[in-house]
Amino acid sequence: MTSHDLTRNQALVLNALSGAVNPLSAYDILDRLRGDGFRAPLQVYRALDKLVEYGLVHRLESINAFVACADPHDHEAHAHGVTAFAICDSCGSVTEFHDHTIENRLQQWQTAQHFKPEKTTIEIRGACNKCSSVA
Ligand SMILES: [Zn+2]
Ligand SMILES: [Zn+2]
Repeated sequence: MTSHDLTRNQALVLNALSGAVNPLSAYDILDRLRGDGFRAPLQVYRALDKLVEYGLVHRLESINAFVACADPHDHEAHAHGVTAFAICDSCGSVTEFHDHTIENRLQQWQTAQHFKPEKTTIEIRGACNKCSSVA
């Protein structure tokens, strides 16, 4: 699956996120994993930290929740590119995408400004196709 050796806790957290339709908060994850021996939020946060570092999980800052990466094999895009998320405020669905035009524009700006980016995440909030067509 991946080149990383996951601990049991990391694998459980990743599983919970992969199996979820929508993003989960750390407390949602804790709730789902209580039967697996998770007791404290710190256990979840520790596992999440590593999974985010490995690029297997993304943190959505604007809703304070986590999603499993839609394409963990696309290391190139994650290491150098821009990760964008479209987040539906009605149903909570999240779509991850990478767009080279956006990347190139931001790169030009960063080069012009001599700004060294660590990571770039774009979060678009709104209504997904399904929700916006229910009029
Ligand atoms: Zn991703
Ligand atoms: Zn929706």
